[in-house]
Formats: sequence, C-alpha cells, structure tokens
Amino acid sequence: MVTSKEKMVGEELDEFDLASSEEETSSQEAMRLATEKYDRCDIYLGMEFSTDRQASAYYDMYAKQEGFRARDGEVRRLEDGTICARQYVCSRAKRMREGEAEESNQKRGPAVLRKGCPVMIEIERVSEYGWEVVDFCDEHNHKVVSPYWEKVHKGKPPKSKKKMDVRKEEGVQTNFISDALEEQTCGYVGVGAEDASNRTMGGKPNAFGSDGQIVLDYFTKWQVRNATCVFAVQLDDEQCLSGVFWSDARARLMYNLFSDVVIFDTTTKINGNKLLFATFLGVNNHAQLVFLGGALVASETEATFMWIFRSWLEAMHGYQPGCIITDLDEKIQHATSKMFPNSNHRLCKRHILKKVPQKLSDVCLKFKEFHHEFSDCICKSRTESEFENNWTELVLKYSLRSNEWVSSLYKQRHSWVPAYVTGIFSAGVLTEWHVEGVYSIFDMYINENTTLKEFIKQYETALRVMLEKEGDEEYKMICSKPELRTPVPMEQQAAEFYTRVMFLKFQKEFIRSLACIAMLVSDCGGLELYTVKETMHDDSGSGVIFRREDNVANCSCHFFESDGILCRHALTIFKIKQIFIIPDRYILRRWTKFAKNGKASEDDAIRPNDEDATSVVARFNSMFSEAIEIADKAALSKETYLMAIKFLRELNVKVGATPIDANVSIEEENVRQDSYKKGH
Ligand SMILES: [Zn+2]
Ligand SMILES: [Zn+2]
Repeated sequence: MVTSKEKMVGEELDEFDLASSEEETSSQEAMRLATEKYDRCDIYLGMEFSTDRQASAYYDMYAKQEGFRARDGEVRRLEDGTICARQYVCSRAKRMREGEAEESNQKRGPAVLRKGCPVMIEIERVSEYGWEVVDFCDEHNHKVVSPYWEKVHKGKPPKSKKKMDVRKEEGVQTNFISDALEEQTCGYVGVGAEDASNRTMGGKPNAFGSDGQIVLDYFTKWQVRNATCVFAVQLDDEQCLSGVFWSDARARLMYNLFSDVVIFDTTTKINGNKLLFATFLGVNNHAQLVFLGGALVASETEATFMWIFRSWLEAMHGYQPGCIITDLDEKIQHATSKMFPNSNHRLCKRHILKKVPQKLSDVCLKFKEFHHEFSDCICKSRTESEFENNWTELVLKYSLRSNEWVSSLYKQRHSWVPAYVTGIFSAGVLTEWHVEGVYSIFDMYINENTTLKEFIKQYETALRVMLEKEGDEEYKMICSKPELRTPVPMEQQAAEFYTRVMFLKFQKEFIRSLACIAMLVSDCGGLELYTVKETMHDDSGSGVIFRREDNVANCSCHFFESDGILCRHALTIFKIKQIFIIPDRYILRRWTKFAKNGKASEDDAIRPNDEDATSVVARFNSMFSEAIEIADKAALSKETYLMAIKFLRELNVKVGATPIDANVSIEEENVRQDSYKKGH
C-alpha cells in the first residue's frame, strides 16, 4: 500500500526532476499554490506571493485558464532602483512607454496588435519576502478564446491535482501553436517546444529515442523561419515526447482551394516500425496529391488520432472537409466520426488491398491468383449486384466465410467498394482511374528502415519532389496546347477550361461517347430515360435521366458525382440532344486552370469580402492569404520571383508611409472580430 503522503512526496520529486530553471520552479510553485488552495486559479485583492516571479507565473496560468495571453506591464521603482511594484497585463493592454515596449517586444517576438484592454493585476512589495495584489481588473474589452478549462474539460472545473493531468484525459499533453493568426486572436499557447524538449531529454527513452530532439530542433527552427507554420507536440504519461504535428501556410492555402477531399494516410511507418508517419493529403486541380499536414506519433490509440485530427482542424481554422478518406482501422474510424461529423467518411481501397497478403497470408500462399481475383472483384464490379455476386463466388471458392477480416470488409462495403461509393465526390480517389503511383511519393523516400535522423531529410526531399511535379504540371499546362481529336466545340471548350490532366480524362470519355448508342426507354413530364451502351463493349449499359427544361443529365454510373467529369453516357445524350457546349454546372472549378486563381473565386466561401474586412484580424487574414498566394505562384520561376519581390518591397514602402489612425481601428475591432473564420 502506498499512503497518500508517500504519493505526495513522489509527485514533488517528479516535479523537482522536471524543473530545470528558476523560472520553472516558480511556475511549479505557482501551480502548487493554485491547486492546493483552489480548484482553479483565482485572483483577489490582498493575495500574497513570495516573489514577483511567482506572481508572474501564477498570472500566466490564470491567463491560460481564462483564454487570454498575459505579458509584463509597467514597473515602479524606488529611488535606489529596486522594483517596488509590478503590473501584469492582458497582451492587448495599451503599449507601454516606448523604451519599455521595445525591450518587451524583443523578448516576446513580433508586436501583437494591442488595443488597450484594461485586464491586469498590480502587485506591490509589502516586505522583503512578500508581494501583495493591490489592484486588478478581469473584464476584457474584447473576445477571449473559449476559457481554457472549458476547452480541456468540457466546462467542468478540474478535480485532478495537476494541470497536466487534466490535459492527459483528452490525450493532449501540450499543444504548442505559434501561429501568427492565433496570436492575433489572443489565443492560448501551451508549453513551448523548448520546454517540451527539455522533458524529452530528461525523460525515459521511448519510440522517439534521443533523436526526438533532432525532430524538435528541426521544427522549432522551421517555425522561426516560417512564422505561419503550425507545430504541436504531444507528451505521454512519463512526459516523454510521443507525437509531433505540423502544417504550414501553403497547406492552408491548398486546403482553402481543395477542401472537398482529404486523405488521411497512415500506411507509412519509420524508425523500425516504432513511429507512425501520418499525412493529410489533398487533391489539386491536376489530380495530384498535395501535402496538408503531417504527424509522427509513437502510439496508435484513439486518443492519439483525436489529437492529430484536433491539431489539424485547428490549423485549418476548424473547417471540415467534404469527404475524408482513411485507412480501415477501428480507432481511426471512431476518431474520424467524432472529429469530422460534417464530412463524408470513406475508407481507402488501396490500403485494404495492400493488407490482403498480410491478413490472408494462407490463401495468398496457397493460391497465386487469389490476390488478383480479389482486387478484380473489388475494382471491376460496376454495380452493387455485380459486386454481391462476385463477392459471394470469391468467398465460396476460397472458403473465407468464417474469416473475421473478410466479414468486416463486407460489412463496411458501403464505405470503400467502388460500386457503392460512386455517389460521393472523392476527386477520383475512391474510383478506378486513380493512379496508385501518386500515393507513394512518400513511400519512395520513407519506409520502416528510415531513422528519425534520415526522416527529416527524406521528408524534405519528398515534399520538394511533390512541389516540383506540381510546378512541372503547371508549366506544361501554361505552355502546351492539348491536341484536339474532333471538330466538336465541346472538346475545344474543355481544352480551354480544364487543366491538361483533366482534359485528357475528359477527352477519353468524350471519344468513347462517340461509340455509344442511346435508346429511349420512357419519356414523361419532361424527363427522358435512356439506356446508353458502348457498342464495342459488352456491358449492361447505364441509365441516363435527361431533364429537357435545364439540360440536366443524371447517369446511373455516378461518374460525375464521384469524379467531377461528365461520363461517356451523359455525353452521348448531350450529343443526340445537339448540346455542343458543356453546361456550366458540369464544369467543376476545382478541375479548371483557374482553380488556384484567387481573384475569380466568387464561390470560395472561405475568402472574405474586401468590404467585410472591418476588423484588424479580418484585414490581416485577408491580406495574409493573398500574400501567400503570391508567394506560391511567384516562387515557380526566378522571373516571377524578381517581379513579385520588387512590387512587394515598393508596396511595403508605400504602406509604411501612409499614416494610420490607431483609435479608429481599435473601435472597429470591437465591432467585429472573427469575420474570417468559418465553421466555428
Ligand atoms: Zn484582454
Ligand atoms: Zn455514366
């Protein structure tokens, strides 16, 4: 039996180990002070602290709890220079006198937009060993982020003794987000990377091992270079590094443009299978995969996946994807349905097929043709009934009826078998034409033998290759004209709109539609039902319903719904109806050459209207995404780079020379704070 007193001693020792600097000792003292006396931090007049450092650390904790950021305020000194009173203020308090403001900014990085919030405490030295709260204010004149405790504890005041414990319950130990935007909204910033890395070194070796430090160093440096990135770390029960998550402004930009489909890929492991490299991938207008964020984690629990999803959503301003495609895994599936309630959730066919040799090793060894037959049954069954027949046959032939994995695959067939998932837009990821090769860019550079040290280099290489491929495709699209095969205006029109890759996909369907025949089955109330068959192929045909009134053609193959390109069947009907131009509704902007062109994106709801930008935050966000877009495009060639950088520098001088009325901007900001954010 361990008595409660022994436990206490143990805890204190634990804390002592962690404390590596005077500052940490103060914060731990403050934490103890807070948790021994109260369930949560509270401030009152006459409250005592033994040092000003302790008061500062306590106020930091209080600020985190209340959802704002604290900083040092004014200082009063006696004639001999010793400090007799201090203020700690909300980060949005008025600027200090010039000299002091400068000093403080150096310590705390770029200046935060400050709008004169009155929230503060003032402490006075009452004796050689004591400080007392003599003044305080706790009413902000601006919105704060949802209070800390609510965020981590669903509104209930914490019962556990230590702050860390509370966060563990949700699997989030630390969440370090240095994000320019986060800073603007007075966001909560948790334990810093520096702090976390100390713990890694002090802690027991885990899946990250001592190389965890390399990863942290890399991302910390990356973050300094690149203020727009998001970087979060997760610690396990023993305060060892157990996960890192990262994403950047380019990922956010890509997600703004292509949020309809996101793949959460968990097929790659590194460091002798000890770490999972999970990636968020999107599909751009060239049907290429783009990187939307990544994580390295030591455990694969539901809590870990929740943490990854939460970190990613935070980086993407909470905006849910249209469809999220994950691997077949109960924990991931649970976490997905909790964190992405508004998204369609489907399973990755590629991942399932990849697992066949491992899950059904007996059958695969015994029957060489099995794997092939299995994937044919999945990929080549065009309708639900066709699949049902093929599946039953396969299961009988190889006596798989009692196999649990096979039964669970069948139970979830609506989530992954192409014959069932065609009605949902997946940018072609779930359907047949999707090229497996694009998935494996990371596979080519990163595998289970990759050490953590090599990982960073390989990851950067893979990312560079991805970007280069994207740049190549962009270049080809601009510099080459696709070859037309027919004199039909529709083909010409498609060549003008679609990106090169998507035009080729369209052209294939278009050419095949020329060899299709359509038979009118029924015609009533303006709706015509056709059966469309390809003359060359012996298939049962597809049913197309055509609405005369507005030229809508719905095909039973659902190719347009899932891939966003008109199918040969619908095109056949347009041909016999003498419609030679693709109706607007059938040209998805995301597949066009203009998909990345910010100016024309009226339907892009994430982008705020210029007139709506009435607050500092909204204006900042609006310009920020615009600037990133410029950088993204201009970086492709030296010529565009030189042009862009010249304009930006000129603009910088011009903006700097224009006087700003600070009072007006503060008032405006009170009116509107979050016009930019969507999905909150
Ligand atoms: Zn405030
Ligand atoms: Zn069709």
